[in-house]
Amino acid sequence: MLGPVQPERSEIEPVLDAVAGFAREYLAGLDQRPVKAPGLEAQLAAFREPLPEQGIGARDALAKLLERAGDAALATGGPRCYHFVLGGTTPAALGADLAAAVLDQVAFAWASSPMAVTLERLCLDWLKELFELPRELTGVMTTGATMANFVGLAAARQWWSERHGADVSEVGLAKLPPVPVFSSGHVHASTKKCLALLGIGRRSLEVLARDELGTLDLARLRARLVELRGAPAILVANAGEVNAGAFDPIADMAALAEEFGCWLHVDGAFGLFARLSPRTRRLTEGAERAHSLTVDGHKWLNVPYDCGFAFVRDGALLGRAFAYAAAYLPAADDPAPNFGSLGPESSRRARALPVWATLAAYGREGQRAMVERHLDLAQHLARRIDESPDLERLAEVPLCIVCFRYNPRTLAEDALDALNTRLGEALLADGRFWVGTTKYAGRVAFRPALVNWRIGEGELDELVRVVRELGARVAAPS
Ligand SMILES: *Cc1c(COP(=O)(O)O)cnc(C)c1O
Repeated sequence: MLGPVQPERSEIEPVLDAVAGFAREYLAGLDQRPVKAPGLEAQLAAFREPLPEQGIGARDALAKLLERAGDAALATGGPRCYHFVLGGTTPAALGADLAAAVLDQVAFAWASSPMAVTLERLCLDWLKELFELPRELTGVMTTGATMANFVGLAAARQWWSERHGADVSEVGLAKLPPVPVFSSGHVHASTKKCLALLGIGRRSLEVLARDELGTLDLARLRARLVELRGAPAILVANAGEVNAGAFDPIADMAALAEEFGCWLHVDGAFGLFARLSPRTRRLTEGAERAHSLTVDGHKWLNVPYDCGFAFVRDGALLGRAFAYAAAYLPAADDPAPNFGSLGPESSRRARALPVWATLAAYGREGQRAMVERHLDLAQHLARRIDESPDLERLAEVPLCIVCFRYNPRTLAEDALDALNTRLGEALLADGRFWVGTTKYAGRVAFRPALVNWRIGEGELDELVRVVRELGARVAAPS
C-alpha cells in the first residue's frame, strides 16, 4: 500500500509552470476584468470542502486552487478598483515578490538573513531620501500603516513613560497617569486601534475639530497643551485623510510640539507621497520635524500586500519598546541590524525585495511621475463629475481622492443619503468597479482613491458612466 502523499522535489517544476501560466493569463486580462466577476457566491462555496485525509499532491492542488482562486479573486490590483486606498503592483515589485517567496528569507536579524536586513536598511535609507526626511531616522518595515502607526505610537508611549520616570515596557501602564493624545477629525481609524493595543485606550484620543469636516482647531490644541502645564503629550498629524485627501497643518503642529515638548507622530500612509511632487509638496511641510512617521508601501508605492514603513527619530526608544531577548537570540547590543527588536514582528518576510526592485526600476523620477499622473487623473475625474448634471462633487481635490455623490437635483437631503447608500450597494453588486461609500460632512458619498499605476482616463470616464447608469436605475420609481 502506498503511504500518504508528501512533498516531493519533482513537484516543484510542474508547480512553477502552472503558476507562470496562470500569472501570464491573469495579468494579461487584469485591465479588462470587472473587479468582481459574476457568480462569486458559487465560486466561494466550491472551496468549502472538509479537510482531505489524503492529499492530491502539489500539481493537482495547484491546478484546483488556481482555477478557483482566479475566478473568485477580486481584481483589486486592476485599474477599476478605487475602494479604500488600494495600490497595484508594479512589474518590478511583482517579480521581486515572487523571488521573495522563492528565497523565503527571514528578515528577523543579520543572523537569519544578512541579505534581507541589508536590503531593508538600504530601502529605508532610500525612502528617507525619496521623502526628503532626516537621515538619522530609524526605520522598520511593517505589514502596513496600521502597524507602522503602532510602531510610532509605541515609541511615543515609551518616551512618554520615561518622561514620567518609568519604563512602560517593563512595568506597564497601571501606575502611570492617562496618556494625553490629540488629533484632528482627520485621524485614521487605525490610530484608535493602536491606542487600544498599546493600553492607552481609544478614548484617550481627544479630537479637536473646528468644523464638521474635522479640520484641526489649532487654538484649542494650544489651549489644551497650556492646561497640561508641561506634562508630556502625543500629537497625531494626518497627512492625507481618507475621504477627500485633506491634510492637517503639520508645520503648525510641529511648532506646537516643539514649544510644548510634545511628541509629533505623522500618519502619512498615502499622503506622504505628496512630497514627491512640487505641485503638492507644501501639503506635507513640517513632516520632516516629526518624531515618528508612517508610510504605506502597498498603497502609492505600488508594491504588493503587505508592506508599510515606520520611521522614528530616536531609534533607541524602539529598542526599549520592542526588546526581544533570549539566550538563543542575537544579543541586545549586537551591532548588526536586528529588525526583530525594532518592531512588533520577529519572524518577518523579506518585504525589502519588492521595495528595492520598484525603487531600482523606476527611481525618484518614476515615482514622482506616477504620483503626478494620479494627481492629473483625480483632476480629470473631478472635471467629469462637475460636467455631469446628476453628480455633485463634495470636496476640493488636493491629492488623489475625489469625493462626490449622485444627486439628480430633485430630492431632499435625507433622500439623497438613502439613494447614495442604495447606489453604493448596487455598484458593488454590479462589480464592474469597486468604490465604497463614506460619510463626508454628514452626507453619504463616494470617495474613489486613485493610487494604482494601471489606472487611465478611460476607466474613470467609464466609472462616471456606470455610476450615472446605476444611479438613474436606483432613483427610478419602482
Ligand atoms: C490605509 C491607512 C492606514 C492603515 O493602513 P494599512 O496599510 O491598511 O494598515 C492608516 N492611516 C491612513 C491615513 C491610511 O490611509
